[in-house]
Amino acid sequence: MSSQFDVVVVGCGIAGLSAAVSAAEAGAKVAVLERAPIEERGGNTRWTEAFMRMKNEDEVADDFEEHFMANAGFNLDPSLVAETAQPYGDWSPIVKALSFTDPEMVVTLAREAGPTLAWLKTAGIRFSDMPTYLITQSTTRICPVGGGLALVEALAEQAEQRGVTFFYETTLEDLLLDAGAVTGIRANGKTQRGIELSGKVVLACGGFEGNAEMQSLYYGERARYIRPVARGGYYNRGEGIRAALAAGAAPCGDYSDYHAQPIDPRSGQSEPIVFVFPYGILVDSQGKRFVDEASYTVDAIYENIARLINKLPGGTAYLICDSQLDRVPNWQRTVRSDQEPVTADSLEELAGKLAIPADSLAATVEAFNAATVDGPFKPLELDGLATRDLTPPKSNWGLPLNSPPYRAWPVISANCFTFGGLRCNTNAQVLDHDGRPIPSLYAAGETMGLYYGRYTGATSVLRGAVYGRIAGQHAAQGG
Ligand SMILES: Cc1cc2nc3c(=O)[nH]c(=O)nc-3n(C[C@H](O)[C@H](O)[C@H](O)COP(=O)(O)OP(=O)(O)OC[C@H]3O[C@@H](n4cnc5c(N)ncnc54)[C@H](O)[C@@H]3O)c2cc1C
Repeated sequence: MSSQFDVVVVGCGIAGLSAAVSAAEAGAKVAVLERAPIEERGGNTRWTEAFMRMKNEDEVADDFEEHFMANAGFNLDPSLVAETAQPYGDWSPIVKALSFTDPEMVVTLAREAGPTLAWLKTAGIRFSDMPTYLITQSTTRICPVGGGLALVEALAEQAEQRGVTFFYETTLEDLLLDAGAVTGIRANGKTQRGIELSGKVVLACGGFEGNAEMQSLYYGERARYIRPVARGGYYNRGEGIRAALAAGAAPCGDYSDYHAQPIDPRSGQSEPIVFVFPYGILVDSQGKRFVDEASYTVDAIYENIARLINKLPGGTAYLICDSQLDRVPNWQRTVRSDQEPVTADSLEELAGKLAIPADSLAATVEAFNAATVDGPFKPLELDGLATRDLTPPKSNWGLPLNSPPYRAWPVISANCFTFGGLRCNTNAQVLDHDGRPIPSLYAAGETMGLYYGRYTGATSVLRGAVYGRIAGQHAAQGG
């Protein structure tokens, strides 16, 4: 089989498949490498419902760009940020290579979202605004019918029809370089090591949420409690990011954080989230509260709460609810664990079952109940039913916990995907530490670094589709 291609795409999720199809559409001879066997192809994309922060199929949500730019990085130098008001060509090399959310990247993502969805529709994808597992929301979302799996299957079929060559169970090990330019990749197959394929390279092989060593290096001790939120994440082990950094790529995206989700550690389901915490209290292993469980709508706060949970002793919190949870319509929709909650008729019994100190839990609940006030409980909107004189407060849905049976879930912080990746420009070309494109090297999806602070929810699949498509086009057109 030939090892000469115009474009070699690494990864078979939304970013890689978008790149492969768009490159093939532009007439390129394309190869796709995928570490997983065919029946598990698609990494994280395979497991997501793929919500997209859109108002409709044409327009991104009203808060799209604002949310990104409010989370562009920490303590950014205002003199460098000011340069971004100038045309891109006038930016200094240190700004082009800066580790922050580049506004040009966000504007391009927002502008190309609608056209990219229209392009996905030509592959047979349909979109809808189906209800999400978020009972309360701060923004608008739509999703492809059939979720990420439908995206993977439809795009893979398009790629196959256009003659793209797939190498399954084949893992990128390194980039091939000649005088600083990328000329191809080296990979290990199931039976053959050291396979070399030549061509321009699009790295779309995810982040490093499946790599315990890299997470320990970047996150420190707290990494020991983290696991991928779904099976697909275990395939993403960071080889693409590592190889590009070694070839001189600049980093981008927050290497010290990840998109965190609160999940039930007892469950082996995909994404066994526990999003019902605004209607109870969260305590640590000593039975103490540590956070306002309901400071805002659940979509806006779950990530921060999951990160706080990760920093608790043992990396575990316990959500305590009582029978008043049944006043929340469809609360079951927001818990995707296949494990039943721990139940008990008294707090003492519950504490025993959770192995947390009973006297401490009783004192916490007593203080919490004493701080609740009478008022209308409106579970599907921010009702302002807040505690009084309590630290930390609970700002909404503050019903007392006094109606057994009690229900509890253990909760840990899962790594949905990593933030640290590669600095790219709006052509998806990977940049070096002087802001210059590394010849013939592209990145898309999680491999492309973009996020800092709070994840702009429901934008990672879009990022993969938009920049994967751009990378494929640009690479095929000889850019
Ligand atoms: C359960 C779940 C729910 C989510 N919900 C949403 C949501 O609603 N909206 C949203 O926008 N985002 C969501 N996300 C995040 C989003 O799905 C991912 O960030 C996005 O799909 C990543 O796409 P990707 O193409 O960059 O990476 P992936 O889809 O992970 O694909 C990477 C591919 O590269 C392959 N690979 C990895 N390393 C190598 C290697 N060395 N050699 C060869 N191949 C390799 C992997 O096998 C995989 O096929 C969710 C994620 C999960 C897991």
